[in-house]
Amino acid sequence: MDKKLVKLMDIPFINIAKKDLLNNNLYPSLDKRQKCYVVTANPEIVMKTREDASYKKMVKKADYIVPDGAGIVMASKLQKEPIQERVAGYDLMLDLLAYADKHGLSCYFLGAKEHVNEKLVSKVKEKYPDLTLAGHHHGYFSIDDPSIVNDVANSNPDLIFVALGSPRQEAWITQHMDKFTKGLFMGVGGSFDVLAG
Ligand code: UDP
Repeated sequence: MDKKLVKLMDIPFINIAKKDLLNNNLYPSLDKRQKCYVVTANPEIVMKTREDASYKKMVKKADYIVPDGAGIVMASKLQKEPIQERVAGYDLMLDLLAYADKHGLSCYFLGAKEHVNEKLVSKVKEKYPDLTLAGHHHGYFSIDDPSIVNDVANSNPDLIFVALGSPRQEAWITQHMDKFTKGLFMGVGGSFDVLAG
């Protein structure tokens, strides 16, 4: 599937409506058990890539860099390459959870404070009862810790939501993705806190 891209500050954003990104790209990738890495980049993330070359490399490894923020859409308009719509990371996560629920896919939830992570998992069980819980762990550990990545990889999840904040979540994903045979990896920032309520 060809990707329509708009480059802003050297970050190639995918220019596609959320429903098309899901239907044409992310759901098929899940169905085929393909590995996939999604960054939902807000202006803060873009600014961080300007200050930190190694972080920029981690972001640019993503299969899809999604425009998460009105500021990104506005910048694309000023550049006369208008991005179709803002795709909020939180909304994308909810759509993916609903798809996992519908198809019995397994999800791992890595990140946030321990009590938030626990609350999030009970919310997910309540709202998405047919989703398989591969596992979960709070986000306060060293990203080099092999026991955490082994636990996640051994649970063989279809989706791995990583809420460690930036740059830790992108660092964890890019450092460890090659230890997995499948999985949609997505950094979700503060989304566990929001869903946990
Ligand atoms: N977080 C974490 N481990 C850390 C730092 C942050 O699990 O070492 C979690 C934090 O609890 C929150 C999420 O990452 O659930 C997003 O954190 P923050 O708002 O600081 O990051 P940002 O969204 O600004 O990148």
